[in-house]
Amino acid sequence: MDRVKIGTCWLDGCSGCHMSLLDIDEGIVAVLRKADIVFGPLVDAQEWPEGVDVAVIEGAVSSQADLALAQTARARSRIVVALGDCAVTGNVPSMRNGIPVRSLLERVYVEGASAQPGVPTDGVPALLKHAQPLHESIKVDVHVPGCPPKPNAILLVLSELLEGRTPDPGSKLRFG
Ligand code: SF4
Repeated sequence: MDRVKIGTCWLDGCSGCHMSLLDIDEGIVAVLRKADIVFGPLVDAQEWPEGVDVAVIEGAVSSQADLALAQTARARSRIVVALGDCAVTGNVPSMRNGIPVRSLLERVYVEGASAQPGVPTDGVPALLKHAQPLHESIKVDVHVPGCPPKPNAILLVLSELLEGRTPDPGSKLRFG
């Protein structure tokens, strides 16, 4: 049986969902018996590769860079998992949605700056008007809520996907 290729990334998230992924502890050994992690913060790949089986995506879609990465991951992956409340609902990043982007940037980079005030124009990805859940940008196959999702729920989802089954985590999942 071919080894499963897993890619992970975080968009507008705090990395807490990836920390929970690492918290599956020895479960990671069972996962890595059947799968290779081919993209993500744990590996050195520079670009989302072709032919990924399972894409695990943390965070909301908040910037043009988030959107581009989400679309690339979708186009090059068979199954997309929205990991955590930010990816599933927008959660914390969407708290800015009632504030116009220009006002937000000026509050942070001008009013809030103690030195060199000014909204950066270089090296900072352009924000979208709203931070949005992943499914509003790309098709999502599996939603895993939680802030962050519990490690045993993540392990169950990954284990089922590695066996070629559709995960049914039921009571292991909850928002918040
Ligand atoms: S769902 Fe919670 S833990 Fe995960 S990225 Fe969002 S704020 Fe962080």
